Amino acid sequence: MGRSESRAIRGAARTKAPRPDPLEVRASPVHGDGVFAVLRIAEGELIGSYEGRRYTPREAAGHILHGEVFYTFGLSDGSLIEGAEGGNQTRHLNHSCAPNCEAVETRADDGQIEIEFRATRTIRKGEELFIDYWLARDADDHGAYLCRCGAEQCRGTMLAPPPKRRGRRGPKA
Ligand SMILES: [Zn+2]
Repeated sequence: MGRSESRAIRGAARTKAPRPDPLEVRASPVHGDGVFAVLRIAEGELIGSYEGRRYTPREAAGHILHGEVFYTFGLSDGSLIEGAEGGNQTRHLNHSCAPNCEAVETRADDGQIEIEFRATRTIRKGEELFIDYWLARDADDHGAYLCRCGAEQCRGTMLAPPPKRRGRRGPKA
C-alpha cells in the first residue's frame, strides 16, 4: 500500500496548492529571518509563490538604485517582484549554495510570469528552507553578497558562478 499511495499524494501536491501551510518564519542561524518547515515536505512539493509589487523592466532599472535588494526577485523578462511590498513569507527564504528548494518560473493564464518554489528533496520538519539566489554577476557590491551558508560546496558568494566557457561549436556533422 505505502509506496504507490505516497506517489499518488505527491502527484496531487504537484497540481494544486498543498495541505496546511508547512512553513513558518523565524530567526535563522544563517541570516536574519528564515523559512522553516513545520511539517515534512516531500520532494517536488510546491512550497509557495513569490508575491509582491511588480515592476516592469524599465521601472526595475530605477528601482534597484534605491531599493532593498534582498526582497527583490528578478524575472527572466527583466521585470521584478518586490517582496517588501505585499510579499508573503517566501520573501524570507535564505540563500544556500546547497539549497533544498528551487525557484521555477511558470506562466499564469494571463501570461504573467510567476515564481514558484518547490522542494528539491525531502525536507524534514524543523529544517530551514533555502534557495540558491544565483544573483546576476553585474551586481555592484560583491562584498555585500558574501555567503556564510556553511555548506561544504559553499561558493563564498550569493552571486552566480562565472559562466562556463561557451563552445561555439555547431552540431556535429
Ligand atoms: Zn554558500
